[in-house]
Amino acid sequence: MIRFFLMILFFNFYVVLNAKEKKVLKTKEKTQIVKIKRKNRQREAHNEYVKKGAHGDWNYTNKGPSTWANRDPAYKLCSHGKQQSPINIITKESQTFSSLDYLSVNFRNESFSVINNGHTVQFNAKNSTSNILGDEYRLLQFHFHTPSENRIDGKPSPLEAHFVHENSGHHLAVISVLFDISKTDNPLLQPILDFQKEGQTVEKKGHDIDPSKFLSNWTKYIYFHGSLTTPPCSQGVLWLVMKEKSTLSSSQLKKFLEIMGENNRPVLDVDKRPLMKNF
Ligand SMILES: [Zn+2]
Repeated sequence: MIRFFLMILFFNFYVVLNAKEKKVLKTKEKTQIVKIKRKNRQREAHNEYVKKGAHGDWNYTNKGPSTWANRDPAYKLCSHGKQQSPINIITKESQTFSSLDYLSVNFRNESFSVINNGHTVQFNAKNSTSNILGDEYRLLQFHFHTPSENRIDGKPSPLEAHFVHENSGHHLAVISVLFDISKTDNPLLQPILDFQKEGQTVEKKGHDIDPSKFLSNWTKYIYFHGSLTTPPCSQGVLWLVMKEKSTLSSSQLKKFLEIMGENNRPVLDVDKRPLMKNF
């Protein structure tokens, strides 16, 4: 009788334990599936960014940077990422490296299509490349932020251009050019100023621009690792912020603000990321 009772008890114990184990396994499986789905969506969103540039249901006002991570599981890195952009570059804390041969910008005078996508004004490139830290990259597009996203020693610039590149391994590199106000217009910016207002997606083809003319010196820069500054905030992006600045007039800046509004993500923690400069 006791033996029978013990058998029943053992059997019950086994059933309960088994059910618990199954439940734990099921929960683990579910978490795994959620993780895989999120990773796939992140990849999808990233590939979309590479194809089109900034897009999606977010902005810099009522759907602003502090809400991005909650708007789509693919945007989780916007709040959880540890190497996010933009940053405040403290020049005296950056380390110096000597070689000047790591950057060779080969931007061509080409016929760009220009798009106002409601997040920025973007020039889509075809034939321009850059050799960055020994690796060949293709220029995908360049676009603008007012005021600048990256800051130098705490100071924002009125405008920042991001030249987004991709290499054959699908890694991204962004060359950043900051702008100062000058008394004269910058003729290179004129095609943007033809756009009317923020929010409309308009494409204009056939703007001949030589983006290499934005600077006279493309060899001096600070580089570090960061992310896209717009959703999905993908990390593993190489950033090069140029030492030399370009210029625009205050009336051009006014027009920029009319077209794009303020479209800068606030700066994020540098943490222990090394900042390297070659000047
Ligand atoms: Zn940008």
